[in-house]
Amino acid sequence: CGIVGYVGGQSALDVVLAGLRRLEYRGYDSAGVAVLADGGLAAAKKAGKLANLEKELSDRPLPSGPTGIGHTRWATHGAPNDANAHPHLDNPGRVAVVHNGIIENFAALRAELAERGHALGSETDTEVVAHLLSESFSSCGDLAESMRQVCRRLEGAFTLVAVHADEPDVVVGARRNSPLVVGLGDGESFLASDVAAFIEHTREAVELGQDQVVELRRDGVTVTGFDGAPADVRPYHVDWDASA
Ligand code: GLU
Repeated sequence: CGIVGYVGGQSALDVVLAGLRRLEYRGYDSAGVAVLADGGLAAAKKAGKLANLEKELSDRPLPSGPTGIGHTRWATHGAPNDANAHPHLDNPGRVAVVHNGIIENFAALRAELAERGHALGSETDTEVVAHLLSESFSSCGDLAESMRQVCRRLEGAFTLVAVHADEPDVVVGARRNSPLVVGLGDGESFLASDVAAFIEHTREAVELGQDQVVELRRDGVTVTGFDGAPADVRPYHVDWDASA
């Protein structure tokens, strides 16, 4: 029910967890995070409150890194348990994806992936996206392009945010019929389903348009349509009171 992404000079895990806390008011049944560090990808996820995830992170700490994503889930497909919590990873765990919404054609995509030998470990509609991104990335080597290719195959409503261990300074987001906002900081960039998640860091925001993909880096963002056509980036100033 909430999504946060970060790349910059702070600990991504700290920024993402603080952002998820700001989105707690929306309600959720599970939470999870993924960070890119030391050339790899590390993830943790837990059913229940953020406190459960924080306990898991103190028992089994993740390495500290500059790039990360986080999610609070409101289950639509699959029970609210640890395995179905986001992020979802490909096999062998180089890509991680979080998702709000519903992917209507996931059953057909699941069957197709199974036929190509992918083993899926959850009951969610989301997990297919991790495997499809992984396949696309293997052929094009570019996460934003992979996201565009995959989104063109999806039906339904979705905000998707992903990272890949081979692009350690990049977070990619996409949206259709579901919100996603970019935050532009000084040497750091944010993605969230709601500006509340990053307002303590920056008030320069960009609303992602329908059927658009954003590639987030420390020094700025690139936005295109699902078809790859470049899109205008028009930042606005968020002036509501974050303490309210
Ligand atoms: N449909 C996805 C799931 O059930 C995402 C739910 C959400 O929006 O949090 O895992």
